[in-house]
Order: sequence, then structure tokens, then C-alpha cells
Amino acid sequence: MIEKVLITGAAGFLGSHLCDKFINEGFHVIGMDNFITGDKKNIAHLLDLPNFQFIEHDVTEFIKIEGNLDYILHFASPASPIDYLKIPIQTLKVGSLGTHNLLGLAKAKNARILIASTSEVYGDPLVHPQTEDYYGNVNTIGPRGVYDEAKRFQESITMAYHRFHGLETRIVRIFNTYGPRMRLNDGRVIPAFMGQALRGEDLTIFGDGMQTRSFCYVSDEVDGIYKLLFSDYSYPVNIGNPHEITIKDFAEEIIKLTGTNQKVIYKELPQDDPMQRQPDISLAKKLLNWEPKVGREEGMLKTFNYFKSLSAEELHKSEH
Ligand code: NAD
Ligand code: UDP
Repeated sequence: MIEKVLITGAAGFLGSHLCDKFINEGFHVIGMDNFITGDKKNIAHLLDLPNFQFIEHDVTEFIKIEGNLDYILHFASPASPIDYLKIPIQTLKVGSLGTHNLLGLAKAKNARILIASTSEVYGDPLVHPQTEDYYGNVNTIGPRGVYDEAKRFQESITMAYHRFHGLETRIVRIFNTYGPRMRLNDGRVIPAFMGQALRGEDLTIFGDGMQTRSFCYVSDEVDGIYKLLFSDYSYPVNIGNPHEITIKDFAEEIIKLTGTNQKVIYKELPQDDPMQRQPDISLAKKLLNWEPKVGREEGMLKTFNYFKSLSAEELHKSEH
């Protein structure tokens, strides 16, 4: 009997790659999305497959699935700072009410559920690199709080369902992930810099560019998530690439990769923008025998080739 998995956020960047992975591994995949930040074209290649089914639905509303369900992966949520600043209430709702609905569904179906948490639960971290036992440094009432606190609540309610109802739960703390199917205008640094290079605009560094991030290629992230789902570990696990870089050096790398003649310009640093971020992945290595394989040079080239393949109309479409 083919096992069935429900993936929320299926039309988004990570959700669509997870749909591909589970289809390739022989599962029956039900994708769910309300397209608030996603795009149907990310799953267009799956729509006619017999093992794929798509349901357009807002997960903050009651979720009804016919028949059995073996696994749920809850990835629905705006993920880019400018997205969640634009739709703060929906962000809070999908992390809280949406997660509650999905946990209820998992309980009703006796399914195992994995929820997508984030390095943002560490806020602007005072511990570096970030280990899973660090409680974080989040400004609850700051503009980013809507995302960070929704995700922290999501972790709490997931552990409560695990402890109180004995539900099989998994929590992945995802660090900055990139690759094809990111939205060119979603405001995250990689699409932002690559879009600027392709349009012949200067690259906008926020602040002095000395803040750091550690970027993980999407195929590595998906492999880590897959392994975590099939592990027997219920506490949060960091999945990310520990190779850390300042945003300033990163802009230089992108200028070289894209061959643009543009320069960098400096803009104001958004409030509560974390100064440093690097996952400690010792736990994932030990538990899952997982570590990232794709280096930044290779991953960035693949991502740039994807953005280059987009139409001029998409390249110049402005959302903000
Ligand atoms: P994305 O915006 O590309 O995808 C999110 C998807 O969720 C979109 O298709 C959107 O339409 C859908 N969605 C949002 N609210 C919904 C709702 N109420 N009902 C149904 N669908 C809804 O973002 P992404 O980068 O693919 O992120 C996916 C998940 O991974 C998110 O939960 C995010 O918090 C988490 N995450 C991502 C990263 C990263 O670097 N990409 C890092 C940490 C955590
Ligand atoms: N950033 C930047 N220029 C941009 C977009 C982002 O300098 O045009 C910076 C941003 O301030 C942050 C880093 O790049 O320090 C990563 O931002 P992103 O939105 O990709 O992710 P997050 O802050 O959630 O890690």
C-alpha cells in the first residue's frame, strides 16, 4: 500500500521541492496551498501525475482529508521578512491556528507530523554558532516578532501534542535555504542580489554588511528534512549549512558570479535584523548521519541559472 503524505505550503519554494522528493521516493502526495506567497507554476509539472493531488485551501481553516494519511509536513507560512511584514496577521495565524489544525488532523489520522521551524526562533542570537539548546533572543513586539513568535508557539504546541497526546512529531529548525523556485521579488537576499544583477541595478546591502548568514542549498535541506522525518527524534534539530559569510562578502561573490558591472549601495538595516547566524549541526550529523554536500559556488550557479531562465516580464515584475 502506497503511503500518503500531506505537504502544506506545496506551491512555495521548499514545499514544492519536498513534493518532488516524496513523489520520487514513491509516496502519494497531497499538496495544499492558498497561494498567498506561492505560485502554481512551482507544482505545474506534478499536477497530472497519478500520485499527486492538489487542494487549494487556507490551513487556518478546518482541514478535511478523505481516507488515511501517514505523514504531514507543515511548511505553509510566509518566510521572507518583507512577506511577513506585509501580512503579519496571516503569518501569526498560519503558525498558530494552522499548526493547531494540522496537529488535530495528525491526531485524527494517527499520522506522524513534521513542522517547519526556523533559525529565527533564536532571534538575534547571543550564542554562536546556534545549538538546539539555546533558548534565543527574540523581540516579541518587534516587526519580525510576528514570524518568530508564531514559530516559537508552533514548536510549543507541537511538543504539547507530543507529550499530552503521544503524537509522533518532528521539528526542523531550518537555516537560510536557497535554490531554484525562490520568488525573484520576495526580498530575501539571494533573489534580491541576483535580480538586481540581472536587471543592471546596484546591489542593496542593508546596514554595513557585516551581519552574517549561512546558506544551505535546497537539495541538502530537503535530504536533511527527509532523514529527520524517518528518525525517531522528537526534539528540534537544526538543518542548515554552517559555512558562514558576511553579507558584504556575499555581495562581492554574487558580483563575480553574475559578471555584473554594478556596485554595492548601502541602505538602512531593518529593525531586529540578526547580526550573526550559523547553525551548529553536530546533532543532525550524529542523529541523522546528515551534512550538506553542495558548496556555495555550485549552489549559487544553479540558482543563478534558474533566475536567468525567467522571462523579462518576470524579471521586471515589481511587487513592492
Ligand atoms: P514560500 O513563501 O516560498 O512558501 C510558503 C508557502 O506557504 C506558499 O506557497 C504560501 O502560499 C503557502 N501558505 C502560506 N500561508 C498559507 C495558508 N494559511 N494556507 C495555505 N498555504 C499557505 O516560503 P519557503 O521558503 O518555501 O518556506 C516554507 C517553510 O519553511 C515556511 O514554514 C518557513 O517558515 C520555513 N523556513 C524556510 C526557510 C528558508 O530559508 N526558505 C528558513 C526557515 C524556515
Ligand atoms: N539583505 C541585504 N540586502 C537585500 C536583502 C537582504 O543586505 O537586498 C540582508 C538582510 O538585512 C539580512 C540578510 O541580507 O541581514 C539576509 O536577509 P534575508 O531576508 O535573506 O533573510 P533573513 O534576514 O531572514 O536571514
